[in-house]
Amino acid sequence: MDLTSYAELAVLVVNGELPDEYGLREELISVFALADAEKHDEAVELLNTLLARHPVHPQISAHDGQGWHLHLAEGGLVMGLAAVVTELGVDRLGGCRAQRCSNVFVDTSSNRSRRYCSERCASRANVAAYRARRRNDR
Ligand SMILES: [Zn+2]
Ligand SMILES: [Zn+2]
Repeated sequence: MDLTSYAELAVLVVNGELPDEYGLREELISVFALADAEKHDEAVELLNTLLARHPVHPQISAHDGQGWHLHLAEGGLVMGLAAVVTELGVDRLGGCRAQRCSNVFVDTSSNRSRRYCSERCASRANVAAYRARRRNDR
């Protein structure tokens, strides 16, 4: 089973793109905020607390023409982040660098190069940087 996809679901909940069915959003935001502030020990400590508070309850499910597969319910979101942290590193949980954007992301790039939550924010930031350079050149 692909736990990284659960980490992506956690991102969608934090960014408000999925409903916060389990009341986890504030806690997930804190994990990303700590990781982004390079408070890695605190981020892991909070994840451990959340893992205990929201245990994984696997259920076998079939829907939308897919075969039987496992659903992890609420604990899956926390478990997904725990998998990213242990397999890729705490620094893979990040906050968007674009101005006025408070979205988060999981960096699964091979060179840890991700800075923005979306292509939209990346291009917006590039335009802003270009304009700033032009101003400085004058
Ligand atoms: Zn399913
Ligand atoms: Zn963004």
